[in-house]
Amino acid sequence: MSGVSDEGQHNASRRPGSLHVTRVRRVSRVTPRMVRITFGDEELTPFLSNGTDQHVAMYFYDPDVRLPRPFTSEAAKRLLPTARPRLRRYTIRSHRPELGEVDMDFVLHGADQLASGWAEQAAPGDEAIWFGPSPAYPLAPGPEWTVLIGDETALPAIAVLLEELPPEHRTSVLVEVADKAEEQELTVRDGTEVRWLHRDGRPAGQLLYEQAVALDLPPGRGRVWGAAERDTVRELRRHFVQDRGVSRADTHLTAYWTRGETQDSDV
Ligand SMILES: Cc1cc2nc3c(=O)[nH]c(=O)nc-3n(C[C@H](O)[C@H](O)[C@H](O)COP(=O)(O)OP(=O)(O)OC[C@H]3O[C@@H](n4cnc5c(N)ncnc54)[C@H](O)[C@@H]3O)c2cc1C
Repeated sequence: MSGVSDEGQHNASRRPGSLHVTRVRRVSRVTPRMVRITFGDEELTPFLSNGTDQHVAMYFYDPDVRLPRPFTSEAAKRLLPTARPRLRRYTIRSHRPELGEVDMDFVLHGADQLASGWAEQAAPGDEAIWFGPSPAYPLAPGPEWTVLIGDETALPAIAVLLEELPPEHRTSVLVEVADKAEEQELTVRDGTEVRWLHRDGRPAGQLLYEQAVALDLPPGRGRVWGAAERDTVRELRRHFVQDRGVSRADTHLTAYWTRGETQDSDV
């Protein structure tokens, strides 16, 4: 699957999502604070391959809500006046259509938090409902270099982007994680430099911003993709666009979470 030059892939990046009622097939620890959940369902076939950096919205209903069966998107709409799900967004880390499997990696940031707590307890057989995939982020040809920057919530997307970038494309990766134990295997080709930043108790985003400002950017047109806590993303966007002159069109920086606030949003 290439998101770079294949015209079909660019068209695929706009296919609409749909509702999936899946089951957890496997759970494994990637690092002490990151759990990989493999979801299985016969329906999880190639229409999910919207391309690089696609995510889904997981649906969490209150435990006392009885879902009508079969649970379809029409059934979910009919339920809205009485029961609204809380949504949480997660990146598709990998997709094996031939096995009907999708992997997502969850940061464990608190057993009492909705999605994180669910992931920490998840076991084979558990039901998981999600809507997706989102449109993808096409790695359009043009930029001569790429910066990928983010905290651990961005790691699944960064890992996928690294797999999709053309060989020898000049790429700098800055990832901030809690500590050394949170480093994980990434695809590192010629021309790619990965730097792990260990928070070691500092506030989230502080090191990421400091190191972003110190980055040596090559000349020529470049692109910046990044995701982290909302305030950090705001600072990074200002820095790359205003201080470094990266065009807005080549800057794709997204708030993945907000300090002190839940990610509740409307269906
Ligand atoms: C497009 C997109 C893709 C994403 N992909 C992934 C992914 O693949 N893997 C992943 O783990 N996350 C991913 N996220 C981030 C994830 O959706 C948020 O971290 C979300 O807040 C988790 O929901 P929750 O119910 O656990 O916590 P919430 O109920 O939303 O928040 C509860 C509390 O936890 C805090 N909090 C939330 N996230 C973190 C965190 N990471 N570290 C420390 N404190 C936190 C909040 O500030 C709040 O105080 C993605 C977000 C977006 C928008």
